[in-house]
Amino acid sequence: MSFASLGLSEPILKAVSDQGYQTPSPIQLQAIPAILSGKDVMAAAQTGTGKTAGFTLPLLHRLSSGTPAKANQVRALVLTPTRELAAQVADSVTKYGSNLSLRSTVVFGGVKINPQMMKLRRGNDILVATPGRLLDLYNQNAVRFNQLEVLVLDEADRMLDMGFIRDIKKIISFLPKQRQNLLFSATFSKEIRTLAKGLVHQPVEISVSPPNSTVESVDQRIHPVDKNKKSALLCHLINDNQWHQVLVFSRTKHGANKLVRQLEAVGLNAAAIHGNKSQAARTKALANFKAGKVQVLVATDIAARGIDIDKLPYVINYDLPNIPEDYVHRIGRTGRASESGHAISLVCADEFPYLADIEHLIGKLLPRELISGFEPVHNLPESSLDRRPPKAKKPKKPKVGHKDGQRSGDVAQGHKVGRRANSRNKRRGNN
Ligand code: AMP
Repeated sequence: MSFASLGLSEPILKAVSDQGYQTPSPIQLQAIPAILSGKDVMAAAQTGTGKTAGFTLPLLHRLSSGTPAKANQVRALVLTPTRELAAQVADSVTKYGSNLSLRSTVVFGGVKINPQMMKLRRGNDILVATPGRLLDLYNQNAVRFNQLEVLVLDEADRMLDMGFIRDIKKIISFLPKQRQNLLFSATFSKEIRTLAKGLVHQPVEISVSPPNSTVESVDQRIHPVDKNKKSALLCHLINDNQWHQVLVFSRTKHGANKLVRQLEAVGLNAAAIHGNKSQAARTKALANFKAGKVQVLVATDIAARGIDIDKLPYVINYDLPNIPEDYVHRIGRTGRASESGHAISLVCADEFPYLADIEHLIGKLLPRELISGFEPVHNLPESSLDRRPPKAKKPKKPKVGHKDGQRSGDVAQGHKVGRRANSRNKRRGNN
């Protein structure tokens, strides 16, 4: 199947071939015809699947006809959870729309609002935005939605995780009722389905791969190590293997800063991106990393969301994430678009519960490899995928009226689910 057979116009096909894309990815194969038909779409797809082109290409096609956007008006609105993702989606719009005369712009917080107001004034066919800044701009009459035709929610699960639900609902209340709605999310949780109910109408539902299957193209391993040896091990690995471009995840902002100082102390070129850094500093660090000027980029989970770096070869988990789904998001930064990649986790004994949660989520045990000179003093316990609680001993005289087998099974299941959910909520609260 080729891009041409999907019904996209010549200028778009040319832009796609200029990018070197030869065949549509599975999400593109399904989403492009559905979006071109004008239907609402609900798609389960992670970053790395080609989802951005999956909605951008048909969006550009649709907007190439019809009345261009008038002053302050917007014809298609793409909402994203983070500034980085907004900037990336906007880049994709520019790339894929390079042979069209459509106008687009991007707005997000952390930078001056005035230049954004100026760009909105001329009217835009596509506006990419993060929710908070968009509301500010709307409240200052800088943007109007009378001409709005399409709403895209990108990474909707992240938007809910980050507490944007009220902002999103408010924004939706400003939009014309008659419009096409496209909802993209890595997972379809109960919360997303509830949001979708009030948003999409008779949607085409697309699911390209089970949430964790992109993990398959990534070579994953762990190096058990003591906590106080982690930074020395990381330096050793980078130098020994001559890694030139490494994305390292840290659980905390403070930890990211500290690690950058430790890497710099041994002469490595490193930078951190996290929520306490200004937008300008984050953009610069990312650009330098992409250009090969920064060898090691240390990121927290939120800051790294949606970062798209072509063929990133190595992702290192300096700390394991305490939310197991974040592990899958993290390693999705490598082995993208059918390239193979490496995800290496440095795991100390304290992190064993996180490791067990991750292995349970991805349904496999991660291979372990000790690095000579860094063998841990505090042993990392052996893991197992079988996390059932030990079987309760059968009482000798079962009480009359109970079906034992079924009852103990119910209790065990309830206990397991409840414990996982409780511990996760507790950890989220600690973040
Ligand atoms: P996304 O999932 O939108 O973040 O895209 C992941 C990566 O795949 C980006 O670097 C895109 O440039 C690339 N990509 C998107 N579509 C294709 C395609 N059909 N063929 C090859 N690469 C693609």
